[in-house]
This record gives sequence, C-alpha cells and structure tokens, in this order.
Amino acid sequence: MESNNKMEKINIEEKSIELDELMKRAEENALDSEEFMATRKRLEFLTSQKDRTNFLSEIWDLKKKMAKSSVTVKTLYELKMLLEKSKMDKETQISVLAHENAHGNKADSLGAKHESYILSVWKIGDKFGYSVGTHITHPDAWDKDKDKNVSIEYTKAPEEYGGYLSDKDKEDIEQKNNTKN
Ligand SMILES: [Zn+2]
Repeated sequence: MESNNKMEKINIEEKSIELDELMKRAEENALDSEEFMATRKRLEFLTSQKDRTNFLSEIWDLKKKMAKSSVTVKTLYELKMLLEKSKMDKETQISVLAHENAHGNKADSLGAKHESYILSVWKIGDKFGYSVGTHITHPDAWDKDKDKNVSIEYTKAPEEYGGYLSDKDKEDIEQKNNTKN
C-alpha cells in the first residue's frame, strides 16, 4: 500500500501546482467587481434568449472574459484545494463546499449531470472576491417542464440540507418560477 500512497501524494502535489497556476491566472485576469457582476448578468440575459443568432459573437467574448478569471475543476476535492489557495476564510470555505456539494448531489440524484465546479475571481479595490458555481447539464430528452422542475429542485438543495441559499440561487428560483413554458 505504501507505493499507492506515494503515488497519490505525487498526484496531489501535481494537482496542487496545476491549481496554483490556474488560480494565479484567474487573479491576474480578475475583473473589477462591478464589471464582473455586469458581465455575468449580460451573459445570462443573452444565453436565455430564444433566438441567440445575433448575439453569438458577444456571448463568445463574454464567456472568454469570464473563463480567463475563473478556475474550473471536476471534483469536490479539487474545489477544496482551490478554496484553500484562495483568501477566503476557513469557515466560509467549509460552508461553500457544503453548499456546492448539495447542488451537485441533488442534480445527480435527479438524473441531471453535475459537470464541474467553477470558482470565479473578481477584485474589489486591492482585495479579491470569489463566486463559486456548479455547472450542471440535463439530458436532451427532457422537456421544458422537466428542465424547469429539476433546476428548481437542485437550486433549492442547499437549504434542504440545512445550509444557505445565495442571492443568485434565490434569483434563479424566482426567475424559473415565473417562466411560462
Ligand atoms: Zn448556490
């Protein structure tokens, strides 16, 4: 078992170096907080349009801007490593992990697919701020009703597990509840 442990240790060290580099790049490209929020809102607005034909290049540019200031990881363990590299306090790190885990677990349990966790870095003065999100996809076969109902379920999940809902979660739930299919 010793060689296995050694192997694992090397992998963790490599992963840590990789995440250090990704975090550094995200910090270097971090947007000012107002620009970050505006960019995110605009992107959500454009991607929610029924006909996106005229917005494709703007969507592409905005996505690139967001991606440069973010780090995407697959697993909760990697997210934990990433948060430890951030300037977020320990208590917040723990509640963020539980929160994102709740979204992801619930999505998987309902037949959606939890793809990744995304940590976005933004700046406020000379300090960094962070937003963490989950990327979840749905099977193509689902109709709009199923899409909507399942999204609401996993967006609400952290509260169900005794945690908090973010302002963005609350907005998303309200918006979905108001969407008529
Ligand atoms: Zn959330």
